[in-house]
Amino acid sequence: MRVLLIEDDESIAEPLAEGLARYGLDVGRVATGGAALAGPFGDIVLLDLGLPDMDGIDVCRRIRQVSQVPIIMLTARGEEADRVVGLEMGADDYLAKPFSMRELIARIRAVTRRTRAAAGHLPDGAVAPGGVPGVAGEGAERDGGPYRLGALVVDRRTRQAWVRDALVALTPKEFDLLALLAEDPGAVCSRQQILDEVWDPHFHGPTKTLDVHVAALRRKLGDPAWIHTVRGVGFRLVVPASRN
Ligand code: CA
Repeated sequence: MRVLLIEDDESIAEPLAEGLARYGLDVGRVATGGAALAGPFGDIVLLDLGLPDMDGIDVCRRIRQVSQVPIIMLTARGEEADRVVGLEMGADDYLAKPFSMRELIARIRAVTRRTRAAAGHLPDGAVAPGGVPGVAGEGAERDGGPYRLGALVVDRRTRQAWVRDALVALTPKEFDLLALLAEDPGAVCSRQQILDEVWDPHFHGPTKTLDVHVAALRRKLGDPAWIHTVRGVGFRLVVPASRN
């Protein structure tokens, strides 16, 4: 998927582009509205509203005049009025700075899923009302829908997780951490990657925070074996061996 990132602030654009690339997205970067309007828009547009040459809202309106590409506005605090106008001008969603990589990816997935569904494609991963989501099979529906890993089901859309059909009560950060690890089971997520994506690309707090959340998540999942510590590197999610 190709992303057009319209952001004049290097200190924001740089880590964003790197983060998006880690998710396999192909990022095109421009720093002005003029360059953005020259295109190409790619498959999704991330639009900073505070641009040096023109109002982001105008950029949004002019893109919408020529394209139905999904647009997510990146707004600063205090731009509530702009968000409303932007949505009226055809933006699909907005994200208030500062946001985590995790939130941005979730928003990109949601917006592209919605616009695909609106275009007549089938929505991903049907969910049974009130219950554990219907899951096609092991490792299915990686594209934002619910998926099953052994006894664990993770549903990003409702931000819920189940172990053996019992809902697990998770804090937002615990859910984000679980969802990140569950995205590529068995693969190691480095501590820095987790801090970047679950917390913030500019997270400078104590990394002990991460260990506290991992410990809580292990406890809530009912078996510490779900999350392996890879010493000196990070963590990975594995389906524990059955104890029967
Ligand atoms: Ca800006």
